[in-house]
Amino acid sequence: MFYRDRYPQQLANVTEEITLPKPVQKAQPVKPVVETRPVPPKLDVFPGASTSSLFDAINKISGDTLLKIRADLGDCTRCKLHRGRTNLVFGDGNPKAELVFVGEGPGRDEDAQGLPFVGRAGKLLTQMIEAMGLLRQDVYICNVVKCRPPENRTPEKDEVSTCSPFLLRQLDVISPKVIVCLGSVAAQTLLETNRGISHFRGEWLDFRGRKLMATYHPAYLLRNPSAKGEVWKDLQKVMAVLGLQGKKGPQAGKSS
Ligand code: URA
Repeated sequence: MFYRDRYPQQLANVTEEITLPKPVQKAQPVKPVVETRPVPPKLDVFPGASTSSLFDAINKISGDTLLKIRADLGDCTRCKLHRGRTNLVFGDGNPKAELVFVGEGPGRDEDAQGLPFVGRAGKLLTQMIEAMGLLRQDVYICNVVKCRPPENRTPEKDEVSTCSPFLLRQLDVISPKVIVCLGSVAAQTLLETNRGISHFRGEWLDFRGRKLMATYHPAYLLRNPSAKGEVWKDLQKVMAVLGLQGKKGPQAGKSS
């Protein structure tokens, strides 16, 4: 069952108005993705990247499914984050999504409900998705770590390295056209870099043969609303690749 069907009340209560800029190419046909596009840079463009990949050991598991990954996680106690957890937050959305959003880790609301991005930042993410002309149920949303870090602190290195193999399996199974990393933890984890997100935000990058776009986290936008325009530019690039026109009608480019 889709999020919208399960949680109609949460979506009905989305009243916070954000003003994302209008899509500039609203009335124009979307350009097809042509083979002559420059190839996105590989991960090793980053000087901070480790030489032996965190993910080298993880080969594609044949016949893998989201259900199997969830079953393998089980009642996970692999890292210390399990101690403070109410619910493990696996991920939610369309298992065949062309677009996957990857966040950092669950916060208080997500921990309470067992669903990703259902708090304030999640409402803003939902608005961003809808401004792109999609619904939450069209995309898949997950996090680098599946359990809430205490006081919403940044996940630690050992927590990320313990949990991220499950994220990789999720991405392999869903096989999206585009991955959008929300914030530096997601971007630095998948790109295996220590570089600040501002160095590569808004650029197409390669993640194991898939297109990856890193943009600011919605929680950052709640603190810095002036950065919404930058994020909207990044999402417009994603929309162009996915052939999306954005929200139609008088509310185009806005979310409510
Ligand atoms: N922030 C995240 O990174 N993930 C969530 O699920 C919620 C807030």
